[in-house]
Amino acid sequence: MLEVETYRRAAHASLGRTIVAVDAPDAWFLKGGATSAQVVAALVGRSFVTDRRRGKLLLLDTSDDGPTLGLRFGMTGVLELDGVDAIDQLQYASHRKDPAWERFVVHFHGGTALRLRDPRRLGGVELDPDEERLGPDAASVGVAELGRILAGSDAPLKARLMDQARLAGLGNLLTDELLWRSALDPARAAGSLGPTEVRRLHRNLRRTLDELGSRGGSHMGDLQEARHRGSVCPRDGAPLQRRTIGGRTTYSCPAHQH
Ligand SMILES: [Zn+2]
Repeated sequence: MLEVETYRRAAHASLGRTIVAVDAPDAWFLKGGATSAQVVAALVGRSFVTDRRRGKLLLLDTSDDGPTLGLRFGMTGVLELDGVDAIDQLQYASHRKDPAWERFVVHFHGGTALRLRDPRRLGGVELDPDEERLGPDAASVGVAELGRILAGSDAPLKARLMDQARLAGLGNLLTDELLWRSALDPARAAGSLGPTEVRRLHRNLRRTLDELGSRGGSHMGDLQEARHRGSVCPRDGAPLQRRTIGGRTTYSCPAHQH
């Protein structure tokens, strides 16, 4: 989500430019049943008028009451505007400019372009994505709302925080970093947190997003260097635990996360 926020800021520079052509060569990359011809017809002649983000979804509204373009980047998608990558150090992404990885390109009047490059094709493009399927954005959720999201749930805390329908934006690395900073065990039942713990989690959520955002992305956390077998906690030196929680590889410290 921190990466997508960076992409949103980059895409802002494309607002108001007239779209003259669209390349959508990869049917797999088009979601929601749209065909390449439909996407081309919906965008050509219009321009982007607003840039928004909800969780990991980048939203570009179009002129003349046209559709909203939704862009997802998965783990390896990179946004390029006017020939420049919006992020130059994304951990999982390659910055080789292989034309075969260009899944979607919007060409503007004057020869500039917005390109989505994705070697692993984990992202996607959709017209009018259902934004209501997503929970409130993790960067702006309030403490009371966060408490309600967790309350009464038997799901592991980490899985609940990553459930995009309840809270949009948190991926695997960010959630491990957040829980490590918050001294909370990712496997604990989400509903078992007391009010003090919810406040601590919320405080750390804001702080973690701010700090990692300014450092350059979700892979810039303090726990990151210890995400390998046999590592120890950067805070207290205890051996880290490696588990699968919510289907994702999870690192946590049994000494200080409870
Ligand atoms: Zn520790």
